[in-house]
Amino acid sequence: MILLDGKKISEEIKNEIKTSVENLVINKKRPPHLAAILVGDDGASLTYIGNKIRSCDQVGFKSSLFRYDSNISEIDLIKKINDLNLDIEIDGFIVQLPLPKHINEQKVLLSINPDKDVDGFHPTNFGKMALGLKSFVPATPYGIMKLIEKYDIQTEGKSCLVVGRSNIVGRPMSILMSLRGRYGNSTVTLAHSKSKNLTELTLNADIIVMALGIPEFLKSDMVKKDSTIIDVGITRVEDKSQKRGYAIKGDVDFESVSKKVKFLTPVPGGVGPMTIAMLLQNTLDARLLSLS
Ligand code: NDP
Repeated sequence: MILLDGKKISEEIKNEIKTSVENLVINKKRPPHLAAILVGDDGASLTYIGNKIRSCDQVGFKSSLFRYDSNISEIDLIKKINDLNLDIEIDGFIVQLPLPKHINEQKVLLSINPDKDVDGFHPTNFGKMALGLKSFVPATPYGIMKLIEKYDIQTEGKSCLVVGRSNIVGRPMSILMSLRGRYGNSTVTLAHSKSKNLTELTLNADIIVMALGIPEFLKSDMVKKDSTIIDVGITRVEDKSQKRGYAIKGDVDFESVSKKVKFLTPVPGGVGPMTIAMLLQNTLDARLLSLS
């Protein structure tokens, strides 16, 4: 089994980004600036935002974090977004999800200027991506596509199963794998909680992307020999033996599946670090776009 080492590949990508930033600075241009909006104090969201900000420092980006109480109104949040849309010192920004229930997530995402939508969630970017046009691609599927490319995994004519149809992972992933291209051209099935006979689907797939959020759901008797398995899941599972009181589990039973397949992403160290690297890539691209 070949481990798809997202940690290593993401470091390579970050080093390339760092070099691009150094070149900008040498040419007397300011470095890219990523802003993040965080509403409330959800532990996982705080961890994700912390990682993103640390990665900005690592590549020489400027970063800003705007934190709000979970009782902020939808109107006030959208006002903040409008400020960021107009701020010429900020190249891209993200609104960390999930948002509190009283805030309409779609309305918030629609208010982001597509040119600064480095998460790629705005319909303008999503639509362009679906048409195979240049756009900001959501960071997690973008990171998975990069891993596939770096390890030169053959996708053409292969059957690819994506499990999970969220707008941020599963659905865009299914689109990217079906697009024309060297690392597309797959025959894609998109499964979800209403899908029947999932095991039949997993057993037939050459490539499986697991993005459902159920720890260790995919077992070795559900996968084809020598297939490629991408594990997007990140779930905190109580584990008293760990200092922090929990362990991070993916959607794949790594222990058993790793004995049967050809390529597999670990959790942690697979898709997670790639997601952050591609967010940085999108932010660099936004900065370069603003200069062109
Ligand atoms: P969502 O909760 O938005 O979507 C989960 C999807 O899984 C839904 O489409 C749901 O179906 C489907 N599903 C749930 N149960 C089953 C089942 N038994 N069989 C088949 N499908 C099922 O999750 P996200 O896409 O946001 O995230 C998925 C996982 O990936 C989570 O663990 C999350 O933490 C992780 N994640 C990791 C990232 C990374 O960087 N590594 C980035 C983003 C997410 P239905 O639509 O019918 O409800």
